[in-house]
Amino acid sequence: MHNEVHIVRAQLQDLINEARHNQAILNRHQSLDLQLIGAHSFRELLQHIFVTLAEICELDQVSLSLVNTQHNLQEMLADLKIDKEEFPFLLFAQTETDLQLAGQPLKKPVLGEFDQTIHQSLFACCFEQPVSVAIIPLIRQSKLIGSLNLGSASPERFVSDMGTDFIERLASIIAICLENVINSERLTQIGLTDALTNVSNRRCVEQRMLEEIARARRQHYSIACMYLDIDHFKKINDHHGHQGGDEVLKEAAKRIKAELRLSDTIGRFGGEEFVVLLINTSHDNAKHVAERIRKSIADKSFLLSMTGLCDVSLSIGIATLSDNHNSGEIENTAQALLLRADRALYDAKEKGRNCVCEAPDA
Ligand code: GH3
Ligand code: MG
Ligand code: MG
Repeated sequence: MHNEVHIVRAQLQDLINEARHNQAILNRHQSLDLQLIGAHSFRELLQHIFVTLAEICELDQVSLSLVNTQHNLQEMLADLKIDKEEFPFLLFAQTETDLQLAGQPLKKPVLGEFDQTIHQSLFACCFEQPVSVAIIPLIRQSKLIGSLNLGSASPERFVSDMGTDFIERLASIIAICLENVINSERLTQIGLTDALTNVSNRRCVEQRMLEEIARARRQHYSIACMYLDIDHFKKINDHHGHQGGDEVLKEAAKRIKAELRLSDTIGRFGGEEFVVLLINTSHDNAKHVAERIRKSIADKSFLLSMTGLCDVSLSIGIATLSDNHNSGEIENTAQALLLRADRALYDAKEKGRNCVCEAPDA
């Protein structure tokens, strides 16, 4: 009798332990849901997918494939200053068809043993190959927007006949979060982008300038500011029409951008004026970049759709903020930097245009 009580008590304790264990799993999954839903940016969401989800669900490999209609997503990553290397587990498929597995459209989760010929591309970015995998479609409004690719070192983790309720639910949350965060990043981007040239607008550059000056102070590096103004733009408008002038602005923005690094910022400040911020750049390097930009505009005529070739040049003023600038309000520092670059631009115009002038050190 005494022994029976003992056994029942032990069984009860096992049940309680199991219930506690399950409750802990449930709590962790709820916290994962909340973190995914609470992500404010694309970067934050990706971090939750690749790090938090992998940890909480005890997965050895997680990658995410996204259908990249017309390359919009890659452009968005560039706008958000997200480097490809930052998220090696983020993969892009050009069309829905590229997400097919062994010629089969991805409609339902596919679970089972890792098969090199079928799954290799989804996990090539991972350090080790998984042993079992789950490939789950991400669907929004009946459209396949990507797939969540989970891998485990354990052969029992994903087997073909297991229930998929949990991972399907996870995939729907991720699909909704991806859509929301991508839309919201796009909206923010629209508010910060110049509609004609597609580079940042004045508001965006002013905002970035404050952020970059603060970071440059913390990390003790110098930044350079360039003020660029297209020469005799009025004449270009007169000869080639307003539409021709607009095309020149677009092409000029494109050529300037092509000379910059991802971490730099280019913005249209108004009319035919651009401002460029070069991060962690010495005075001499800034001069080289400015000269490269000047040449990239002046050395090759612009081809306009209605009126043909058009020679364009611009003048550039540079001012640098040294790596030991620590004093004063950031807003005042930003204004003073811009003003110095603007004065240097004025000098370049005075000198005869199509040239680069530097502001004296502050
Ligand atoms: P400078 O060499 O001294 O810079 O001479 P400029 O003719 O370039 O400068 P100015 O400031 O006198 O003229 C700028 C012109 O740019 C006047 C304006 O009509 C034109 N402009 C401003 N915004 C736009 C635009 O969005 N599209 C076009 N096509 N023209 C614009
Ligand atoms: Mg001007
Ligand atoms: Mg001008």
